[in-house]
Amino acid sequence: GTILAIETSCDETSVAIVKNRQVLSNIVASQIQLHRTYGGVVPELASRQHLETINLCITKALVEADKNWQEIDAIAATCAPGLVGALLVGVTAAKTLAMLYQKPFLGVHHLEGHIYASYLSEPDLQPPFLCLLVSGGHTSIIYVKDCGLYEMLGSTRDDAAGEAFDKVARLLNLGYPGGPIIDKLAQQGNPQAFKLPEGKISLPQGGYHPYDSSFSGLKTAVLRLVQKLELEGDLPVADLAASFQDTVAKVLTKRTIKCALDYGLTKIAIGGGVAANSGLRKQLLTEAQKHNLQVYFPPLKLCTDNAAMIGCAASDHFAHGHTSSLNLGVQSRLEITEVMKLYDKLN
Ligand code: ATP
Ligand code: MG
Ligand code: FE
Repeated sequence: GTILAIETSCDETSVAIVKNRQVLSNIVASQIQLHRTYGGVVPELASRQHLETINLCITKALVEADKNWQEIDAIAATCAPGLVGALLVGVTAAKTLAMLYQKPFLGVHHLEGHIYASYLSEPDLQPPFLCLLVSGGHTSIIYVKDCGLYEMLGSTRDDAAGEAFDKVARLLNLGYPGGPIIDKLAQQGNPQAFKLPEGKISLPQGGYHPYDSSFSGLKTAVLRLVQKLELEGDLPVADLAASFQDTVAKVLTKRTIKCALDYGLTKIAIGGGVAANSGLRKQLLTEAQKHNLQVYFPPLKLCTDNAAMIGCAASDHFAHGHTSSLNLGVQSRLEITEVMKLYDKLN
């Protein structure tokens, strides 16, 4: 079906029209400038900005796709997880439109959207596959079994990968958001300049957890290094960025490849903002090729938050006969294994 999808879970107001795996329009109004002064997303400002921007984004999405309301089959919005006030803006808009135009409504799990970003550029990708989801709030290795059916195999014990990029960028005084800045700077640095800890998770019975990760130790190690180097003189920022990025990429690549091999999965999709990282892409591709695994990278624009990926997930659920109640609320947290709680099955 043709879906109008809305994404307002964090700091991007986005509206897209998606037909199955085809993006007809994808309007993304980023609030990065608004939050930059504060060095992070300010929830109250985010909700207000979504309110001010959403109507224009809806109109633009329809115009750019050259669709009218009669041609829209269902209306979807991200309903969890995310900032509650921000989610409410998108969900309320979607429900109102669904009532007004008598269309089915679908709530979408934000992380399921990040997984579906890979479908948009790979028309032939089908489950089962492994998804490495690395974003501002999550670092997960997910076994994608079917539409709405997921198993969490690995996660972070503390900071998410994107959060680590943002925090390290802040302590290097590089600005916000840190990921893209570190990525660019790393290209001029030596990734072997500093040896940093990989943050392995010890198991009570001995050995290490094969799929879980931890980034807070790595962040602290960079902080100590910066404090020491600052006393000695100029900070080798590019080398620090390159070494940090290389370590994150190495950790994520190791865990993901091992998991794919252990579970006998031959396809790996990556998603979330950190999936845009050039170091991670390079290492994952190299290691996957060594083991004859196929890796799917969404285009950069579909890695960070956007409504096209939400529309793609909604479109698949809609095709399976899943729709949501207009009583569906928003939730700041919701495990990806609970996705089917969002839908009433029609058949
Ligand atoms: P979540 O999806 O977990 O709710 P989010 O929606 O805020 O979190 P995304 O929009 O998917 O997260 O990703 C934003 C994160 O991606 C930020 O932390 C940003 O620094 C990081 N990021 C973006 N581009 C890059 C890059 N090239 N390299 C590394 N990190 C990046
Ligand atoms: Mg964002
Ligand atoms: Fe996201």
